[in-house]
Amino acid sequence: MEKYLDDAQALFEYTRDLRRDFHKHPEIGFKEIRTANIIAKELSNLGMEVTTGIGQTGVVALLEGKEPGPVVLLRFDMDALPIQEETGAEYASVIEGVMHACGHDGHVAIGLTVARLLNNYRSEFKGTVKLVFQPAEEGLGGAERMIADGILHSPPPDVALALHIWNDKPVGWIGIVPGPVMSAADTFYIRIIGKGGHGAAPNLCNDPVYAASQVISSLQSIVSRNVPPLKEAVVTVASIHGGEAFNVIPSEVELKGTIRTFETSIRDRVISRLEQIVVNVSHALECESKVEIKSMMPAVVNHPDITRRVQQVASRVLPSDQLDIHTITMGSEDMAYVLQQIPGCYFFIGSANKERNLDASHHHPKFDFDESILPKAAGLMVASALEFLGK
Ligand SMILES: [Zn+2]
Ligand SMILES: [Zn+2]
Repeated sequence: MEKYLDDAQALFEYTRDLRRDFHKHPEIGFKEIRTANIIAKELSNLGMEVTTGIGQTGVVALLEGKEPGPVVLLRFDMDALPIQEETGAEYASVIEGVMHACGHDGHVAIGLTVARLLNNYRSEFKGTVKLVFQPAEEGLGGAERMIADGILHSPPPDVALALHIWNDKPVGWIGIVPGPVMSAADTFYIRIIGKGGHGAAPNLCNDPVYAASQVISSLQSIVSRNVPPLKEAVVTVASIHGGEAFNVIPSEVELKGTIRTFETSIRDRVISRLEQIVVNVSHALECESKVEIKSMMPAVVNHPDITRRVQQVASRVLPSDQLDIHTITMGSEDMAYVLQQIPGCYFFIGSANKERNLDASHHHPKFDFDESILPKAAGLMVASALEFLGK
């Protein structure tokens, strides 16, 4: 089993150079043109059948083994974020205001390394590897667009795998957890409508600023009073807007925020309590209200049997790493849409290195990770793919 890790290690410079090149030239969601061109070129050089323009800027390639057999989809996301980089790295972004601050540059480099390795092993497996390089993971709907363009058909995958470089955990940690691993995300928009007027005459107004403050306080009771204590949920009001002048009570206040849950029953309960609290607290304070909930993402749910097999592969390929089978995150991920239809596993590779100052969190202007994890990630992905292909 170590062969996969050794072979990935032998390609370290290839992987690292690709990663640094992508890092230097980040592209945000649905604008990954240069990135997609490099991916298509690398895969074509391996003699693969490559299709571009799937989900706008996505790339799909098929790699056939020695005989027909199971189809394994491997997904790698490739978009950057609208963040001004502050790492000071020699390979820092040269694009103003755009940065690979989530590690998707690493994911693409890992994906191309996986493609090279599996191509070398193609006489050793039966079946098809479907390599999917996905645009616009960062909340822009890349997975949905690729699914709409047919990535789950012709041929339909039997298993889907994806990974994320994870700076919340150190190098040497691997998270492979069955069941829900990343939460469902819903966005809420609240308007509280009162009656504006002079700040010195609140008695003649229905103050939506005060009502908003009471709504925000009361929303905190959902997690503390309505969600079962052993279940996870987050309700965050992240934006509040209303009023301009110090002496004018505005007629309206807008709130925006996010709800994160893992289970449908908890999600439904949180949403219905949020609606009740907004309407009734506003009403008690003589204001009207409007609530709009937008579902952003379902939870990422790993298939138990497939996940168990990936855990076994990880124990063989990376025996000295710490395998965590419990840690889940309130982040969200559009791989959720793929895993709703195809059984699979989404796993995490710890990538932080505190001594080298490579431990800033994802989406931070100083985000960077320890590149020594690139071969480990590639080796684990290759070995996991082969686990589900025929021998
Ligand atoms: Zn991200
Ligand atoms: Zn990410």
